[in-house]
Amino acid sequence: MHIHRTIAEIRQFVGQCRAAGQTVGLVPTMGYFHEGHLTLMREAKQKCDVVVVTLYVNPLQFGPKEDLAQYPRDFERDCTMARDVGVDAIFTPLDQEMYPQGFSTFVEVTGLTDILCGQSRPGHFRGVTTVVTKLFNIVAPDQAFFGQKDAQQALVIQRMVRDLNMNLEVVILPTVREHDGLAMSSRNVYLTEEQRRDALVLYRSLCAFRAAVQQGERDAGKLRGMMTDMITTVPGAQPDYVEILAVPDLQPLETLQGGIIAALAVRFGKTRLIDNVIMEV
Ligand code: AMP
Repeated sequence: MHIHRTIAEIRQFVGQCRAAGQTVGLVPTMGYFHEGHLTLMREAKQKCDVVVVTLYVNPLQFGPKEDLAQYPRDFERDCTMARDVGVDAIFTPLDQEMYPQGFSTFVEVTGLTDILCGQSRPGHFRGVTTVVTKLFNIVAPDQAFFGQKDAQQALVIQRMVRDLNMNLEVVILPTVREHDGLAMSSRNVYLTEEQRRDALVLYRSLCAFRAAVQQGERDAGKLRGMMTDMITTVPGAQPDYVEILAVPDLQPLETLQGGIIAALAVRFGKTRLIDNVIMEV
């Protein structure tokens, strides 16, 4: 597995693969890998000849009071895990490589980014779409792989690729969960034992949502109230948002119809976790 720190190096690597007629899959990540990341890498390896993983904790998508400095990192472990699933190259640039002095160009998807995580984390999606555009331009992949765990991010990236005619396919893969249902996340390591137990309320409330919809409930207000009640009965859980929206446009709904997402963000102490379920009714 090749490890590249500069744009020139990764371009040269990808250029050689292309010259040999190989297709290229890209998996953008911020590292501290878990089974969610590895699933994206394995799927990329199935679908493409060569897999490039980018490992970059992008400062542009963190707010001034967020966890950029504390974000978990373990480069050696990540390299071993990526190598073991057959990743061909890791691109792990320094900040000055990505954002040199005078950097002043940003990519922004409007509308979709004003709500949910965009509301609680102003500027977050502008940071995501800017770095992802740069990674697409640097690697020029045939396919790029993202997780439904970050559902709004996936919808925003799909919209950006469509609107700006980016020449690649975006592949979205289902959320990978721990045995008890907690969505895997690099941020789960921040949780105390008690918070880890409390955090199960995200999955429990999404399961209750799904069951109620399957039994015929279509009233978004009632379903939202039910999930909010479940979350607020856990003393350590502070809901940031509990929303039921139409997909892919993320428009508000009164009555469930067509494609819908139930999306949650909940704080446990300083740790903010997100989860969602997407259904067709
Ligand atoms: P991150 O390193 O957290 O930025 O995540 C990198 C990619 O992995 C993103 O496309 C995420 O949506 C995806 N991802 C993170 N957690 C999971 C999970 N539990 N299941 C599936 N994909 C995930």
